[in-house]
Amino acid sequence: AKRLGGDRIEVFKQALRAQKTDRLAMESDLRRALERSEIALVYQPVVRLADRTLAGFEALVRWDHPRLGRLPPAEFIAIAEETGLIVELGLFVLDRAARQLYQWQQLMPLDPPLFTAVNVSSRQLLRHDLLQDIKGVLARAPVARGSLKIELTESLVMENPEYAAQMLTRIRELGAGLSLDDFGTGYSSLAYLQRFPFDTIKIDKSFVRADSRGIRPVMLRSIIALGHDLGMDVVAEGAEIDADAVELYQLGCDFAQGYAFGEPMTPEQATRLLKDATAQ
Ligand code: C2E
Ligand code: CA
Ligand code: CA
Ligand code: CA
Repeated sequence: AKRLGGDRIEVFKQALRAQKTDRLAMESDLRRALERSEIALVYQPVVRLADRTLAGFEALVRWDHPRLGRLPPAEFIAIAEETGLIVELGLFVLDRAARQLYQWQQLMPLDPPLFTAVNVSSRQLLRHDLLQDIKGVLARAPVARGSLKIELTESLVMENPEYAAQMLTRIRELGAGLSLDDFGTGYSSLAYLQRFPFDTIKIDKSFVRADSRGIRPVMLRSIIALGHDLGMDVVAEGAEIDADAVELYQLGCDFAQGYAFGEPMTPEQATRLLKDATAQ
């Protein structure tokens, strides 16, 4: 019995070592991923609920790892943040998404203009250089004012509200839009929300999911009303079935995103969707 235990501990130690090596390998792989063009963006449609037309996209990052295949952000964003690689990765994502949006707007002008939301992490927002980065990106890709939306999570903004409010004001002055992600999951109070120049709030998918029937309409209705009172557009994420979209529309929500309207897709597929939408 003693030996068995010993073996088990040995196996456990080996697993731990393997995990550590994996992580180190991931780190150095990620360092090279950008140079090797392994980072890709996929785009998920955001639909206007009043007429079900395409209003914009959210850009979501993927890593085409040479051995592990296409990885979702959950597998590498944390490593990128801890190592600081997120700064370079984030700038790449912002630049790529802005160029794509500019191309779409040139090719297929819409009124109001098509938008793209881009996720920005705390490490990026904490750097003052983010302002220069955004300025550079918008100079290279002069998209319609406010149509490149910087998307930030609620928890991130609440970590340091004074600093965040200043940065957000300057980001908006540069001509970018601002979207507050995962709304309802953190701590934002009405008083704070009012001080941030967001033009859009995005309701977290946990409020839209079909299994929270009882509380859902009440919560959704008040979040939507709050957003509108503050002059913001309201997007709901995680609309998985048509009934979600119908209910969201009845509750006054402006836009929805989710499997009901399309999963994240390649830029080519997104372009086709946009062409179909403008052809009608
Ligand atoms: P998020 O910003 O909340 O993005 C929404 C996530 O929900 C996406 O997962 C999307 O594929 C998924 N989703 C879309 N529709 C539905 C639906 O109807 N039902 C359900 N259950 N899920 C849906 P994804 O692409 O794996 O992204 C996960 C998270 O990774 C994102 O959450 C975001 O926080 C982060 N992320 C993605 N791209 C970037 C990036 O470029 N930079 C940074 N810093 N973070 C990113
Ligand atoms: Ca997001
Ligand atoms: Ca979200
Ligand atoms: Ca989320």
